Amino acid sequence: MSEPLESAGQCAVPALVAEREQALLAPYAMRSVESAGREHAEAGHRYRGPYQRDRDRVIHSTAHRRLAAKMQVFTGELGDYHRTRLTHTLEVASVSRTLGRALRLNEDLVEVLALTHDLGHPPFGHAGEDVLDECLAGVGGFSHNRQALRIVQLLEHRYPDFPGLNLTAEVLAGQTWRIEHDAGASPLLEVQVVEAADSVAYNTHDADDALELGLLELGELAQVPLWREAVARVRRQYTAIEGKELIRAVLHELIDWQVRDLFDQTLARIARHQVGSTRDVRAAPLLVLPSEEVAGPKRELEKFLHARVYRHEQVVAIRQRAQSQLGEMFHGYCRRPNLLPPGFRARVADFGLERTVGDYLAGMTDRYAQQQHEQLFGGK
Ligand code: MG
Repeated sequence: MSEPLESAGQCAVPALVAEREQALLAPYAMRSVESAGREHAEAGHRYRGPYQRDRDRVIHSTAHRRLAAKMQVFTGELGDYHRTRLTHTLEVASVSRTLGRALRLNEDLVEVLALTHDLGHPPFGHAGEDVLDECLAGVGGFSHNRQALRIVQLLEHRYPDFPGLNLTAEVLAGQTWRIEHDAGASPLLEVQVVEAADSVAYNTHDADDALELGLLELGELAQVPLWREAVARVRRQYTAIEGKELIRAVLHELIDWQVRDLFDQTLARIARHQVGSTRDVRAAPLLVLPSEEVAGPKRELEKFLHARVYRHEQVVAIRQRAQSQLGEMFHGYCRRPNLLPPGFRARVADFGLERTVGDYLAGMTDRYAQQQHEQLFGGK
């Protein structure tokens, strides 16, 4: 017996999955049976729903594995305590799923959106992104959000019949919204949850990493209102803890407090705007937002991290070195395209030399980029 097709405009959803979603999800959650389907027609799966399949495709992708060796804020040479792009992604997925499940949203869709959100990051984090954007200015520039779409639509090769991962329209639309924020309609709540979880995760873990690396002192953070309030909340339960014990308790409280706040605020907005379907979600203003009580102090923490961590001299020095390396490599490969691997050389005719070099560089891990720079372009 052959399975029904999943194609544009429809998804084949196993009864098991459709019934489960019908029983568990809120009326404003996205259901697999409402999916707009995939670009290329494929047979459905006996027991996995379309968003589960999307999640599995992203997990098995090359780009996902390479996130393990791409930096978030701090490079591998600073130690091995801090987050990589992969562990950041997993923390975002964890926070997103917690919030998504509590709001009775489609957790499979939430998860694949979280796993996809940073898939397009080049080596060396935002420093790498900025230099590629400059190098590619003549052909449309570079952004990690757009690159994630290129990866899942074009660059990954997993199937003989089509390029890319052939993800559902909802995952592509969610990632597209990250690029064009004001497209006239709000994104699905599953997309909004991931957007909110991203900053909860990075604000907290960047503070943690910076403390552990000694770039920040606890006393400095204690001046930041959001941190100070989290300390006060922890102190109500544990009056005497200090040092690392205190830091861990505060980090835990920061995440839990922000997620509780998002949960309460979102439910209140859903009620206020009488949201009862995905159509209502699209017509309503953004719903997954923190309260003003949290949002203001959260912005302060972000400003603090920008000034004190992201512009820390050690971080800036690494950033400058990474930028000059990637820039040299970009121009080097453009001058000598024969240095590109055969698969990429074959793409030049379709996508042009610059974009192809950009795709190649963006796919590299930090370590591989450094090695290639040393071998091919004159080292340090
Ligand atoms: Mg992120």
